[in-house]
Amino acid sequence: MKEIQSNINIVGGGLIGAAAAYSLSKLGNKVVILEQKDKFNHEKILDKRTTAISEGTKKFLEEINIWGDISHHAEPIKNIQIIDRNQSNKLHFDNKRRVSNLGYIVKNEFILDGLYKQLKKQKNVKIFNNVSVKDIFYEENKIVIKQKNFFVSSNILIASDGKNSSIRKIFKTPIYSKDYKKKAIVINFYHSKTHNNTAYEYFFKNGPLAILPMQKNKNNFQSSIVWTNTDKFINSLLSLDDNNIISILNEKTQGSVGEIKKIITKQTFPLKAHLNSKFFENRIIYLGDSAHSFHPIAGQGWNLGMQDVESLYNLTKKYNSLGLELGDEIFCKEFQKDNFFKAYRLYQITDKVDSVFKLENTIFNHARFSVINLIEKSKKIKNQISDFAMGVN
Ligand SMILES: Cc1cc2nc3c(=O)[nH]c(=O)nc-3n(C[C@H](O)[C@H](O)[C@H](O)COP(=O)(O)OP(=O)(O)OC[C@H]3O[C@@H](n4cnc5c(N)ncnc54)[C@H](O)[C@@H]3O)c2cc1C
Repeated sequence: MKEIQSNINIVGGGLIGAAAAYSLSKLGNKVVILEQKDKFNHEKILDKRTTAISEGTKKFLEEINIWGDISHHAEPIKNIQIIDRNQSNKLHFDNKRRVSNLGYIVKNEFILDGLYKQLKKQKNVKIFNNVSVKDIFYEENKIVIKQKNFFVSSNILIASDGKNSSIRKIFKTPIYSKDYKKKAIVINFYHSKTHNNTAYEYFFKNGPLAILPMQKNKNNFQSSIVWTNTDKFINSLLSLDDNNIISILNEKTQGSVGEIKKIITKQTFPLKAHLNSKFFENRIIYLGDSAHSFHPIAGQGWNLGMQDVESLYNLTKKYNSLGLELGDEIFCKEFQKDNFFKAYRLYQITDKVDSVFKLENTIFNHARFSVINLIEKSKKIKNQISDFAMGVN
């Protein structure tokens, strides 16, 4: 049986695995990617979501020379409006104090396309599709994955196999998890008025509804809605025809982008969040959704995963420059030290913000109204919040 030697073996070639593979290969490491689906070859990517890319992530994508390809498809966010129930109670953020934007909306398929295009050019990257990892063992200072016709042996295994990570199941890494018993529906649509590069987030009793500004398609103004609601509501919404869905959305979006003209795509996602009790095992690092997943209320899951990727990139660069072998205990513990708390903090913030905005009685409504008013008037607090959203704090 053939044995493939690499420094780094990456299981899962999604948005995080592909970014990790590319950045680590740029440091000269031999990288193998094992991906369960046929992602690297097929053109039709099924994920029709968009991602709000933070300024912090954009800076790292620039550093590894990948932003150029993605930027052609990115719509800048210049304003954010947070609206509690209706327009009379809202917060407004802009970014006049910096030269950069508040973020960028890009379709996931374009981020993946940009990464795959560059990955295929890297001579030190080997990609295997249609491969599902089940059998793993150790040999001295190597971790080995056994497949039907070959072994991959490496110093370190990066588990970027998503929130239901098989690696995590094989190693029985404990997790803390929460099932919100809700769904997010993502609807891309055309509308009558320009979005003016504004992202809106409406908070309703059953969950938030975000409107994210997309690039124009031909002459059509285009945006994407991410609406969290109960399973029952989302299922009944999906049973309606598009004209009825449009009427409901017109009422909920309160004319922010004019009239909704046409629905382009609809997809739903179950809402669950989790945090691994630790982000490593012996010669294994959990990266992105395999380590943590969040309520999408702040659109930060991938951005935080990209902070993991950047941290792994910097740690690997340090080890490479000192001629040290990747993946030993100190390496794994240093990764944990740099990344666990950030994920714990985001987990708590997204969970608590969701809970606070759900509360519906006179006292809580009044308290929220007062807090929103206070923040709206405080430049300092607003700057701190926008720095957090931009991933630059
Ligand atoms: C509705 C919604 C909206 C969101 N919006 C935003 C946003 O605006 N901004 C943001 O930052 N984040 C957002 N997120 C979060 C973001 O989508 C995720 O954090 C991100 O996609 C995680 O990427 P990943 O590569 O870690 O996992 P995945 O994308 O799940 O990739 C995992 C990969 O591993 C492969 N795989 C799985 N098992 C195996 C196996 N055994 N062997 C080999 N391969 C395997 C899979 O095929 C897949 O390719 C949103 C999430 C949702 C649900």
